[in-house]
Amino acid sequence: MVFDCHTHLMESRHLTGSFLSDALRVWGQDYNMTSTPEQHLEAMKDTTGAIVLAVDAPYIGFNVPNEYVAEYVARHRTRMFGFASVDPNRAGADRLLESAVRELGLVGLKLAPIYQNFHPTDKLAFPVYAKAQELGLPVMWHQGTSYPAQGPLDISRPVFLDPVARAFPDLLMIIAHMGHPWMGEATATVRKHPHLFADISALGKRPWQMYNALIEAVEYGIEDKLLFGTDYPNFTVQETIDALTGINRLVEGTNLPRVPDRVIDKILHKNVPEVLGLV
Ligand SMILES: [Zn+2]
Repeated sequence: MVFDCHTHLMESRHLTGSFLSDALRVWGQDYNMTSTPEQHLEAMKDTTGAIVLAVDAPYIGFNVPNEYVAEYVARHRTRMFGFASVDPNRAGADRLLESAVRELGLVGLKLAPIYQNFHPTDKLAFPVYAKAQELGLPVMWHQGTSYPAQGPLDISRPVFLDPVARAFPDLLMIIAHMGHPWMGEATATVRKHPHLFADISALGKRPWQMYNALIEAVEYGIEDKLLFGTDYPNFTVQETIDALTGINRLVEGTNLPRVPDRVIDKILHKNVPEVLGLV
Protein backbone atom coordinates (compact mmCIF):
# COMPACT_ATOMS: atom_id res chain seq x y z
CA MET A 1 0.00 0.00 0.00
CA VAL A 2 1.15 3.53 -0.74
CA PHE A 3 1.48 6.49 1.58
CA ASP A 4 0.06 9.65 0.00
CA CYS A 5 2.32 12.61 0.85
CA HIS A 6 0.17 15.28 -0.83
CA THR A 7 -3.58 15.59 -0.16
CA HIS A 8 -6.06 18.36 0.50
CA LEU A 9 -9.17 18.81 2.55
CA MET A 10 -11.37 21.55 1.17
CA GLU A 11 -14.98 22.56 1.12
CA SER A 12 -16.62 25.22 -1.02
CA ARG A 13 -16.32 27.84 1.75
CA HIS A 14 -12.51 27.43 1.60
CA LEU A 15 -12.32 28.38 -2.09
CA THR A 16 -13.19 31.95 -3.04
CA GLY A 17 -12.06 34.89 -5.15
CA SER A 18 -9.89 34.48 -8.18
CA PHE A 19 -8.73 31.00 -7.18
CA LEU A 20 -12.28 29.71 -7.52
CA SER A 21 -13.22 31.64 -10.67
CA ASP A 22 -9.98 30.66 -12.41
CA ALA A 23 -10.39 27.01 -11.43
CA LEU A 24 -13.84 26.97 -12.99
CA ARG A 25 -12.54 28.74 -16.08
CA VAL A 26 -9.75 26.21 -16.55
CA TRP A 27 -11.45 22.97 -15.44
CA GLY A 28 -15.06 23.72 -16.41
CA GLN A 29 -18.04 25.05 -14.48
CA ASP A 30 -19.04 21.67 -13.02
CA TYR A 31 -15.55 20.88 -11.72
CA ASN A 32 -15.79 19.53 -8.19
CA MET A 33 -12.81 20.31 -5.97
CA THR A 34 -14.37 19.50 -2.64
CA SER A 35 -12.97 16.96 -0.22
CA THR A 36 -14.76 16.72 3.12
CA PRO A 37 -13.18 14.75 5.98
CA GLU A 38 -15.51 11.84 5.21
CA GLN A 39 -14.62 11.88 1.51
CA HIS A 40 -10.92 12.13 2.31
CA LEU A 41 -11.02 9.18 4.69
CA GLU A 42 -12.82 7.05 2.10
CA ALA A 43 -10.40 8.11 -0.67
CA MET A 44 -7.43 7.11 1.53
CA LYS A 45 -8.83 3.75 2.63
CA ASP A 46 -6.34 1.76 0.54
CA THR A 47 -3.29 3.69 1.72
CA THR A 48 -1.11 3.40 4.80
CA GLY A 49 -1.91 7.08 5.45
CA ALA A 50 -1.57 10.58 4.12
CA ILE A 51 -0.27 14.08 4.66
CA VAL A 52 -3.14 16.58 4.75
CA LEU A 53 -2.27 20.16 3.82
CA ALA A 54 -3.76 23.37 5.17
CA VAL A 55 -3.53 26.38 2.84
CA ASP A 56 -3.30 30.01 4.01
CA ALA A 57 -3.45 32.04 0.81
CA PRO A 58 -5.78 35.03 1.21
CA TYR A 59 -4.07 36.69 -1.78
CA ILE A 60 -5.73 34.23 -4.16
CA GLY A 61 -8.76 33.07 -2.13
CA PHE A 62 -7.53 29.58 -1.14
CA ASN A 63 -7.95 29.21 2.62
CA VAL A 64 -8.06 25.85 4.39
CA PRO A 65 -7.56 26.66 8.10
CA ASN A 66 -4.99 24.93 10.27
CA GLU A 67 -7.71 24.22 12.85
CA TYR A 68 -9.85 22.42 10.28
CA VAL A 69 -7.00 20.12 9.22
CA ALA A 70 -5.91 19.57 12.84
CA GLU A 71 -9.40 18.54 13.92
CA TYR A 72 -9.52 15.88 11.19
CA VAL A 73 -6.05 14.40 11.63
CA ALA A 74 -6.47 14.27 15.42
CA ARG A 75 -9.21 11.68 14.89
CA HIS A 76 -6.84 9.48 12.82
CA ARG A 77 -3.53 9.96 14.58
CA THR A 78 -1.78 6.84 13.41
CA ARG A 79 -2.45 7.42 9.69
CA MET A 80 -3.02 11.12 9.03
CA PHE A 81 -0.40 13.86 9.39
CA GLY A 82 -1.49 17.50 9.19
CA PHE A 83 0.72 20.23 7.75
CA ALA A 84 0.04 23.80 8.84
CA SER A 85 0.09 26.70 6.44
CA VAL A 86 0.98 30.28 7.26
CA ASP A 87 1.18 33.17 4.85
CA PRO A 88 4.67 34.67 5.39
CA ASN A 89 3.18 38.10 4.63
CA ARG A 90 1.27 37.94 7.93
CA ALA A 91 2.71 39.78 10.90
CA GLY A 92 4.17 37.25 13.34
CA ALA A 93 3.89 34.39 10.83
CA ASP A 94 6.60 32.45 12.67
CA ARG A 95 4.62 32.63 15.92
CA LEU A 96 1.46 31.50 14.11
CA LEU A 97 3.40 28.49 12.85
CA GLU A 98 4.68 27.69 16.32
CA SER A 99 1.18 27.74 17.81
CA ALA A 100 -0.15 25.54 14.97
CA VAL A 101 2.45 22.97 16.01
CA ARG A 102 2.31 23.26 19.80
CA GLU A 103 -1.42 23.84 20.21
CA LEU A 104 -2.92 22.07 17.19
CA GLY A 105 -0.45 19.19 16.83
CA LEU A 106 0.42 19.86 13.18
CA VAL A 107 3.72 18.37 12.03
CA GLY A 108 4.81 20.19 8.87
CA LEU A 109 4.41 23.38 6.86
CA LYS A 110 2.86 24.06 3.47
CA LEU A 111 4.07 27.06 1.47
CA ALA A 112 2.93 28.19 -1.97
CA PRO A 113 4.46 31.44 -3.30
CA ILE A 114 2.23 31.42 -6.40
CA TYR A 115 -0.85 31.46 -4.15
CA GLN A 116 0.57 33.46 -1.23
CA ASN A 117 2.39 36.08 -3.30
CA PHE A 118 5.83 36.08 -1.66
CA HIS A 119 9.24 35.43 -3.18
CA PRO A 120 11.00 32.42 -1.60
CA THR A 121 14.23 34.41 -1.24
CA ASP A 122 12.52 37.44 0.35
CA LYS A 123 13.96 37.92 3.85
CA LEU A 124 10.38 38.56 5.00
CA ALA A 125 9.83 34.78 4.91
CA PHE A 126 13.08 33.79 6.65
CA PRO A 127 11.67 33.81 10.22
CA VAL A 128 9.13 31.22 9.05
CA TYR A 129 11.89 29.00 7.61
CA ALA A 130 13.93 29.46 10.78
CA LYS A 131 10.96 28.43 12.92
CA ALA A 132 10.28 25.37 10.75
CA GLN A 133 13.93 24.34 11.02
CA GLU A 134 13.95 24.91 14.79
CA LEU A 135 10.82 22.78 15.22
CA GLY A 136 12.03 20.08 12.81
CA LEU A 137 9.08 20.59 10.43
CA PRO A 138 9.29 19.40 6.83
CA VAL A 139 8.12 22.04 4.36
CA MET A 140 5.95 21.12 1.37
CA TRP A 141 6.44 23.72 -1.35
CA HIS A 142 4.05 24.26 -4.21
CA GLN A 143 6.98 25.44 -6.32
CA GLY A 144 5.67 25.06 -9.84
CA THR A 145 2.98 26.45 -12.09
CA SER A 146 -0.73 26.83 -11.39
CA TYR A 147 -3.68 28.35 -13.21
CA PRO A 148 -4.82 31.45 -11.23
CA ALA A 149 -4.18 34.47 -13.45
CA GLN A 150 -3.05 36.59 -10.49
CA GLY A 151 -0.53 34.03 -9.19
CA PRO A 152 2.99 35.31 -9.91
CA LEU A 153 4.52 32.64 -12.15
CA ASP A 154 8.11 33.86 -12.14
CA ILE A 155 8.58 33.37 -8.39
CA SER A 156 7.15 29.84 -8.49
CA ARG A 157 10.26 28.32 -10.09
CA PRO A 158 12.01 25.54 -8.12
CA VAL A 159 15.46 27.10 -8.50
CA PHE A 160 14.48 29.77 -5.94
CA LEU A 161 14.60 27.09 -3.25
CA ASP A 162 18.36 26.75 -3.71
CA PRO A 163 19.19 29.91 -1.70
CA VAL A 164 16.69 28.79 0.97
CA ALA A 165 18.31 25.35 1.13
CA ARG A 166 21.76 26.91 1.45
CA ALA A 167 20.62 29.23 4.25
CA PHE A 168 18.77 26.46 6.13
CA PRO A 169 20.80 23.26 5.74
CA ASP A 170 18.71 21.32 8.26
CA LEU A 171 15.34 22.29 6.80
CA LEU A 172 13.74 19.31 5.12
CA MET A 173 11.83 20.41 2.01
CA ILE A 174 9.69 18.72 -0.61
CA ILE A 175 9.05 20.22 -4.05
CA ALA A 176 5.49 19.28 -4.99
CA HIS A 177 4.61 18.01 -8.47
CA MET A 178 8.36 17.75 -9.22
CA GLY A 179 8.17 21.49 -9.89
CA HIS A 180 6.12 21.12 -13.08
CA PRO A 181 6.74 22.28 -15.77
CA TRP A 182 10.27 22.93 -14.50
CA MET A 183 11.04 19.33 -13.59
CA GLY A 184 14.67 19.67 -14.69
CA GLU A 185 15.12 22.66 -12.40
CA ALA A 186 13.49 20.78 -9.52
CA THR A 187 15.73 17.77 -10.17
CA ALA A 188 18.86 19.94 -10.21
CA THR A 189 17.84 21.62 -6.93
CA VAL A 190 16.96 18.33 -5.23
CA ARG A 191 20.25 16.75 -6.33
CA LYS A 192 22.31 19.55 -4.76
CA HIS A 193 20.81 19.28 -1.30
CA PRO A 194 20.59 16.16 0.87
CA HIS A 195 17.54 17.60 2.66
CA LEU A 196 15.44 18.18 -0.48
CA PHE A 197 12.85 15.78 -1.92
CA ALA A 198 10.19 15.93 -4.63
CA ASP A 199 6.73 14.40 -4.98
CA ILE A 200 5.14 13.05 -8.15
CA SER A 201 1.63 14.31 -7.38
CA ALA A 202 -0.54 15.81 -10.14
CA LEU A 203 1.69 14.51 -12.94
CA GLY A 204 -0.48 11.48 -13.76
CA LYS A 205 -2.76 13.29 -16.21
CA ARG A 206 0.28 14.49 -18.17
CA PRO A 207 2.03 11.19 -18.84
CA TRP A 208 4.67 12.57 -21.21
CA GLN A 209 5.66 15.09 -18.54
CA MET A 210 5.67 12.39 -15.84
CA TYR A 211 7.78 10.10 -18.04
CA ASN A 212 10.37 12.79 -18.73
CA ALA A 213 10.45 13.83 -15.07
CA LEU A 214 11.15 10.25 -13.97
CA ILE A 215 13.82 9.68 -16.63
CA GLU A 216 15.55 12.92 -15.61
CA ALA A 217 15.39 11.84 -11.97
CA VAL A 218 17.04 8.52 -12.84
CA GLU A 219 19.71 10.14 -15.01
CA TYR A 220 20.59 12.65 -12.28
CA GLY A 221 20.52 10.01 -9.56
CA ILE A 222 17.71 11.40 -7.39
CA GLU A 223 15.38 8.40 -7.73
CA ASP A 224 15.57 7.71 -3.98
CA LYS A 225 14.23 11.20 -3.23
CA LEU A 226 10.89 10.84 -5.02
CA LEU A 227 7.76 10.54 -2.90
CA PHE A 228 4.35 9.19 -3.88
CA GLY A 229 1.56 11.78 -3.77
CA THR A 230 -1.73 12.41 -5.55
CA ASP A 231 -2.88 16.01 -4.93
CA TYR A 232 -6.26 14.52 -3.94
CA PRO A 233 -9.06 15.56 -4.61
CA ASN A 234 -7.62 16.70 -7.94
CA PHE A 235 -6.35 13.14 -8.56
CA THR A 236 -7.14 9.85 -6.87
CA VAL A 237 -4.77 7.26 -5.45
CA GLN A 238 -5.71 4.68 -8.08
CA GLU A 239 -5.33 7.15 -10.98
CA THR A 240 -1.85 8.02 -9.77
CA ILE A 241 -0.79 4.39 -9.23
CA ASP A 242 -2.10 3.48 -12.70
CA ALA A 243 -0.25 6.39 -14.31
CA LEU A 244 2.98 5.42 -12.59
CA THR A 245 2.84 1.67 -13.20
CA GLY A 246 1.70 2.18 -16.81
CA ILE A 247 4.26 4.86 -17.66
CA ASN A 248 6.38 2.65 -19.92
CA ARG A 249 3.47 1.99 -22.26
CA LEU A 250 4.44 5.33 -23.80
CA VAL A 251 7.72 3.99 -25.10
CA GLU A 252 6.88 0.39 -26.01
CA GLY A 253 8.23 -0.42 -29.46
CA THR A 254 10.68 2.50 -29.39
CA ASN A 255 14.33 2.91 -28.44
CA LEU A 256 13.49 5.41 -25.70
CA PRO A 257 14.59 4.44 -22.18
CA ARG A 258 12.14 2.71 -19.83
CA VAL A 259 11.60 3.95 -16.30
CA PRO A 260 13.20 1.08 -14.36
CA ASP A 261 10.77 -1.11 -12.39
CA ARG A 262 12.93 -0.63 -9.28
CA VAL A 263 12.30 3.13 -9.43
CA ILE A 264 8.53 2.66 -9.67
CA ASP A 265 8.64 0.14 -6.80
CA LYS A 266 10.64 2.49 -4.60
CA ILE A 267 8.14 5.31 -5.14
CA LEU A 268 5.21 3.03 -4.36
CA HIS A 269 6.73 1.49 -1.22
CA LYS A 270 8.62 4.32 0.46
CA ASN A 271 7.97 4.78 4.17
CA VAL A 272 7.33 8.51 3.85
CA PRO A 273 6.56 9.25 7.54
CA GLU A 274 9.97 7.79 8.41
CA VAL A 275 11.79 9.62 5.60
CA LEU A 276 10.27 12.94 6.69
CA GLY A 277 10.76 12.28 10.39
CA LEU A 278 7.04 12.40 11.15
CA VAL A 279 7.17 9.32 13.40
ZN1 LIG B 1 -1.69 20.36 -3.85
